[in-house]
Amino acid sequence: MGATNVTFPSGAVSGESTVIRVERLPEGAVVVVDTTPFHPVDHTWPDQPGDAGALHFGDGQVVVTEAVMAAVSDAGQFAVGTGIPAKRGAEGWTWLVGHKLDGSVPDWLVEGASVHLVVDAARRDGLSRGHTACHLASLSLDLAVADLWRKDPGIDALGNADFEGRANQSSRIHEDGSIDEYRLGKSLRKAGFDTEAFVATLSEREARINARLSAWVSSGASSRVETDGPTIIDRRRWCCELPEGDAVMPCGGTHARSLDEFTSISVAFERRDPQTLVMTTTAVPAPDAAQR
Ligand SMILES: [Zn+2]
Repeated sequence: MGATNVTFPSGAVSGESTVIRVERLPEGAVVVVDTTPFHPVDHTWPDQPGDAGALHFGDGQVVVTEAVMAAVSDAGQFAVGTGIPAKRGAEGWTWLVGHKLDGSVPDWLVEGASVHLVVDAARRDGLSRGHTACHLASLSLDLAVADLWRKDPGIDALGNADFEGRANQSSRIHEDGSIDEYRLGKSLRKAGFDTEAFVATLSEREARINARLSAWVSSGASSRVETDGPTIIDRRRWCCELPEGDAVMPCGGTHARSLDEFTSISVAFERRDPQTLVMTTTAVPAPDAAQR
């Protein structure tokens, strides 16, 4: 058994495959197939939730509540999600996509069975837009605060000072939006960022970010996921051809195919406490986004 093959990077939301493994765990059953269109939540950087949907066999159907990472150690230990004691792709483990079932395992769901997998496409589309919007918001944020660096913090996917890489603490994507948390602490100051000036001009920066996002949406730029290979552990990148240049960044998630899928993307800042800045990104889908 090798690592699970995945078809979600190309945008697939359905497919046929063979059941490789059915695990009955205390927290519920998990099914592994040879090739899946389901995008699993990452167990170490859980930014985009796993896909939901169903497995079909003849007239039978079972609901998949969420796709998760699963792994089998060389010693035969099967682990799921946050229970996996290794980083994705680590040696000594075979990396799999697990489909968590809602309820018990139907009789037809056995190793070797050929099943039809169907992802909840509307939810996937919303998550893809949310993920693309999240990355665009971070790139726009980096540009909007580029003048506040006194030292070189390294560069982002567009070649600008990488505030996102230095300050982002967590990123949570949902349908048509995301919530990012940034730490404005001592280490950011030490890295050469003028936190005081940033905090004093937050609303002006927010307006700058939103103006840029609006221009990017108007550009209708193409967006896609590139892969180094067919399995869940092969490296994947998000590529977006923005007017400022091609943005290319490592990313395991799913994305909109074009910025034409949006009517708008905007952000709002909120200071949760003196050291924590929260950026809420909201995407409004184009009226016909679902038909694209
Ligand atoms: Zn990403």
